[in-house]
Amino acid sequence: MAQTMMALRKTKRGRGAEMQEIPIPDIKPNEVLIKIHASSLCGTDVHIYEWDAWAQSRIKTVPYTVGHETTGEVVKAGSVVTRVKEGDIVSVETHIPCLHCKQCLTGQMHVCHNLQILGVDRDGAFAEYLVVPEVVAWKNDTSIPPELLSIQEPLGNAVHATLIEPVHGKSVVILGDGPIGLFAVGVARACGATQIFLTGLDPFRLNIGKKMGADRIIDVAKEDAVQVIKDATDGLGADVVLEMSGANQSMQSGIAALRRGGRFCFFGIYKDNLVPTPLNDIVFNGGTFYGINGRLMFDTWFTVSNLLSSRRLDVTPVVTHKMPLTSFAEAFELMIEVPKKVGKIVLFPDTKYMTNGSH
Ligand SMILES: [Zn+2]
Ligand SMILES: [Zn+2]
Repeated sequence: MAQTMMALRKTKRGRGAEMQEIPIPDIKPNEVLIKIHASSLCGTDVHIYEWDAWAQSRIKTVPYTVGHETTGEVVKAGSVVTRVKEGDIVSVETHIPCLHCKQCLTGQMHVCHNLQILGVDRDGAFAEYLVVPEVVAWKNDTSIPPELLSIQEPLGNAVHATLIEPVHGKSVVILGDGPIGLFAVGVARACGATQIFLTGLDPFRLNIGKKMGADRIIDVAKEDAVQVIKDATDGLGADVVLEMSGANQSMQSGIAALRRGGRFCFFGIYKDNLVPTPLNDIVFNGGTFYGINGRLMFDTWFTVSNLLSSRRLDVTPVVTHKMPLTSFAEAFELMIEVPKKVGKIVLFPDTKYMTNGSH
């Protein structure tokens, strides 16, 4: 086996990243070495690439390898690894739990007290090889193509937020037309929601939302979302609102569009932690308000796998671009460009895994 690999490294505390040849890392007894087939780009990677205020305060050490949403083949397993073996095609839960804090011991390891995040706190997946502890290696159904296996982590966010309570027979509003909002539309549709609204600002992405099964897309630059939702729900408001935009105005509209006693999920991240919030409306709503962080480990992963394997959920409309990892700069610029002309971009360190050509 080769001794070195190409990896996309954050080499300095500033904008950008560069491809470097570095040694293939060693594994500890509880770890596996994965030959990466595909890794998808996430908003978090863009923050790190652009080196915004969040990245400056969050990233502790450079150089390191970025990227976290990934899939590949186990090519080496440590001596105490038992659940996966060489040759398995795995994806990776990017929240790496300590396995000994209170949350880890009580079924909440997705919010582990000592959580390490792949591609943020340790070397990530925009590389030819990746090392992770066995606990986060998720064995895949190999009939699913690599670009879909790599997006199971963000799809898991959508599944966790959408299905934290049942949606069958319910009206569901998804605020925000980013990839996770688009995934949530598909999840709500596959799981029996009967009225699905999607709000957003990018016609390209709202159109993908239509393909994913939204009954009504709302371009918030042109329409009043609260009015549209109230008109369509006998003036009551929607049963479920999923806030996936991280925009303050959108969050406020969502609370106004939620029926009394409904369910609201906060998932979007706000630029400012202390954005204005209609707290009295939340109190008087009398409903259930959740914060969504990551995915349940591993309940959500079973649901994601079953939805994809059964073909009940087709997320291919969201995966708009497949590119070689070497085209990372172009990929990041596409992600940054406004208005958005991309859904999810998947990068391939070895183009032989780039099935059906590129877009
Ligand atoms: Zn991500
Ligand atoms: Zn823990």
